[in-house]
Amino acid sequence: MTTNHHHETIGPGLLEQVAPDVFSYVQPDGTWFINNTGFIVAETGVVSIDTTSTERRNRAYIEAIASVTANPVKLLVNTHHHADHTHGNYLFPDATIISHVSCREVMVANGITDYRAAFPGVEWGDLKFRAPDLTFEGETTIHLDELTVDLFDLGFVAHTEGDILAWIAESGVLFTGDLIFHGGTPFALFGSIQGTLDALQVIAAKEAEVIVPGHGPAFSGSSIKKVLHDQSNYLHFVQEVAVEGIKFGRAPVEQASITDLREFSSLTDSERLAGNLHVAYRENAKADYEWVGFEQAISDMIIFNNGELPRCVA
Ligand SMILES: [Zn+2]
Repeated sequence: MTTNHHHETIGPGLLEQVAPDVFSYVQPDGTWFINNTGFIVAETGVVSIDTTSTERRNRAYIEAIASVTANPVKLLVNTHHHADHTHGNYLFPDATIISHVSCREVMVANGITDYRAAFPGVEWGDLKFRAPDLTFEGETTIHLDELTVDLFDLGFVAHTEGDILAWIAESGVLFTGDLIFHGGTPFALFGSIQGTLDALQVIAAKEAEVIVPGHGPAFSGSSIKKVLHDQSNYLHFVQEVAVEGIKFGRAPVEQASITDLREFSSLTDSERLAGNLHVAYRENAKADYEWVGFEQAISDMIIFNNGELPRCVA
């Protein structure tokens, strides 16, 4: 295994007003641990959707909010448990943090995971664990002054077992968390390939005007159909590659290594194919496959990545 000691510098988060009082905070380049957040400004407070990965990135996000409003963040939504979306919870001590029941359960079980070996070179900062305060299943609505934000789960496992989406009906803005990696490789190792496909249908049915994904640029209007289509195509591709591998009795990593990524080679973090294939094998009724666990699936991603750890410039 080789380690990439070279730590690239990438630009700061991009703050954009996507609707009246609704802001996206998109962090380039959307790769490992470089996620998006966003916030909605109400009369006396702010609702934030997610936080980010490192202390430095979270403090930059807080500054971005402060550049728009002096109002405090009163409510904070965690779209799912992954560290890049939740590490900054502790920097919002006065906010009520809302998540899916399963999201909180996983967070409490894991605490702050030590990623120093898997992602060397990242300065995580002085992170402290902070769990959500309020959990739900199904749907709920949060109210802050005149603002309403509808939160809903999918009723099935997709990116994780506790994904929630945030919908601002008034302006047609949908925050999807990691159900969408715009420009990146979808990642279902902690969830389901089929579930992520089904989630894309739920997202399409919302007929949003603007979508803020968990990673990659926000998109709107006629781009929505295309982005959802592209994400579905990749997930179908993973399922087809799994069918091929199962037919010839190849292990997921073996099958990954002989697969032509075609148009998907331009997506970032393409090593995720090896991890995604484990999930697609598990979900294929014809496979004689026993789930190997996350650690093995991640090792296979490294093998598929020519022995290199995933590139992480968080
Ligand atoms: Zn995630």
